[in-house]
Amino acid sequence: MGSVRKLLLLLLMAVLPVLSAQKKGHHEPLFGKANATYSVTSPVLKGAVFYLVSGHGGPDPGCIGKYQGKELHEDEYAYDIVLRLGRELLKRGATVHFIIQDAKDGIRNEAVLKNSKRETCMGKTIPLNQVARLQQRCDAINLLHRKSKSTYKRAIFVHIDSRSKGEQTDVFFYHAPGSAHGKRLARKLQHTFNTKYDRHQPNRGFRGTVSERNLYVLRKSNPVGVFLELGNIQNARDQKRLVIADNRQALANWIAEGIVADFKTGKK
Ligand SMILES: [Zn+2]
Repeated sequence: MGSVRKLLLLLLMAVLPVLSAQKKGHHEPLFGKANATYSVTSPVLKGAVFYLVSGHGGPDPGCIGKYQGKELHEDEYAYDIVLRLGRELLKRGATVHFIIQDAKDGIRNEAVLKNSKRETCMGKTIPLNQVARLQQRCDAINLLHRKSKSTYKRAIFVHIDSRSKGEQTDVFFYHAPGSAHGKRLARKLQHTFNTKYDRHQPNRGFRGTVSERNLYVLRKSNPVGVFLELGNIQNARDQKRLVIADNRQALANWIAEGIVADFKTGKK
């Protein structure tokens, strides 16, 4: 009996610190086992709400690039970057909704991300029909938007372009026509990228532009939105931006920094 009690006590002592650490650390299973736990290290985005949407998903892979004999699917890369971005925003105290989700694929470090059709729109099957597919994600955003009293709510749509192989592109930032707040955020993002390029690729310069674009998701979703095109999935140099995990993380970090700058400008 005594030894059983001792054993139980030992077990308890081993388990307690783990339990309390889990309480302190926040947990998002979508990030995958290695990254699920995170801590809020800064309150700088407290009060801000984000609806993060990775382009395509489910039956629709989006653009497809060829890389070392393998296919790169837009939806997988956009999703990985969105997860990384969401984690950065959460660490800064924001509320984050992942509109497109994959129950199995967390944050991944491989160069070639395996393709799947598993993605859902917050648990719902993504339809193949384009308008139905886009309206579904807008409906999900608008429902959450209606329920939230935050004054700063932003929908962020992340895509990767497909152009001719020879065309290297920068990151492009689009906002809905006439959206002053969309434009403000797009400009902050552009400015952040400009600064980063000056530091990391001084000979290259950054030519990514901000412009209005009459896109379905920007038109039909109610919160202020920006739509990002992160590069040309066909171009070998742009592919480096995507296949190197550190580069995907850098993109996420820079987007998060631009968002912080925008939130500091005005919490509306
Ligand atoms: Zn796309």
